[in-house]
Amino acid sequence: MDLLSIIVPCYNEEKNVEMFLDEIQKTLVGFNYEVIFINDGSQDNTQEKIMDLADSNPNVKYISFSRNFGKEPAIYAGLINATGDLVGLMDADLQHPPSLLPEMIEAIHEGYDVAAAKRVSKKGEPIINSLGSKLFYRLFNSISNVKLVAGATDYRVMTHQVTDAILQLNEYNRFSKGIFQWVGFETKWIEYENIQRVAGESTWSVWDLFGYSVKAIIAFSTLPLSASIFLGFIISTLAFIYLMFIIVKYIIFSDPVQGFATTMCTILFLGGMQMILIGILGKYLGNTYSETKNRPIFIIKETNIDDKRLDKDR
Ligand code: UDP
Ligand code: MG
Repeated sequence: MDLLSIIVPCYNEEKNVEMFLDEIQKTLVGFNYEVIFINDGSQDNTQEKIMDLADSNPNVKYISFSRNFGKEPAIYAGLINATGDLVGLMDADLQHPPSLLPEMIEAIHEGYDVAAAKRVSKKGEPIINSLGSKLFYRLFNSISNVKLVAGATDYRVMTHQVTDAILQLNEYNRFSKGIFQWVGFETKWIEYENIQRVAGESTWSVWDLFGYSVKAIIAFSTLPLSASIFLGFIISTLAFIYLMFIIVKYIIFSDPVQGFATTMCTILFLGGMQMILIGILGKYLGNTYSETKNRPIFIIKETNIDDKRLDKDR
């Protein structure tokens, strides 16, 4: 029977990991599975809890990072170390209902490469978040070749072949939602209603989400760079027309231009514009800089996986 490796990134999830495993055990009776908890530098007792679970359950594996690296590195570490024929990805807070798992596995057996969950409601989410996310999807999809699916989550089951494809994108600045779409393959979308996390707190603030969106766009589109060229052309053209206007006015009416205000406005406007564009350029350069440093995406402190794999081992 196929082995399913379920990867679960955990950051301060001491209240959730046991409940999570219970639910998985109840749902996956009769299936062959392992759960790989990635403890992403939690400051609470997540590590102790996970080790207790591993002691009493041979299906529980864990990888513990040396510090908090973020959810993306945790996903990556899990994917590298997942040996299953099928590989699953879930949050520890039970916002990803385990009850969908059998349907996902079924979809893979039917011939899909990926079965992924899609949230159909944003119930219980602040308005600013859902508005922001709508705007983000619009913008991202209009300027990137990779198209994101609104409401798509990281919750999914995929074949090992898809996992290998994802691992080939070993960039440092990771945006998994984009990477999942980039690799392609046939995906079955399974819809579910949004659920609140059972315990603990979400670590995402509005500001974090904004930063995440910017990172995502930088990682999957270079259109902002071309847009600056376009903007430059427009402004130069307008300036040229204005210049003609001034010359003609001077020749015909002998009326030299006066106006401190116009000059100031123009200088400040252009100055601000240039700062913004340099900022955009800087973002891309910064990305290139962090990629060329080629630092490891995560550092493992301890694990119960015998032949653990690091990101340089691939
Ligand atoms: N997570 C993580 N590292 C982090 C932040 C979060 O591994 O730095 C994990 C967290 O434990 C959870 C999942 O990523 O299993 C989703 O996090 P969260 O519930 O905070 O995000 P949300 O559900 O609000 O998108
Ligand atoms: Mg959550």
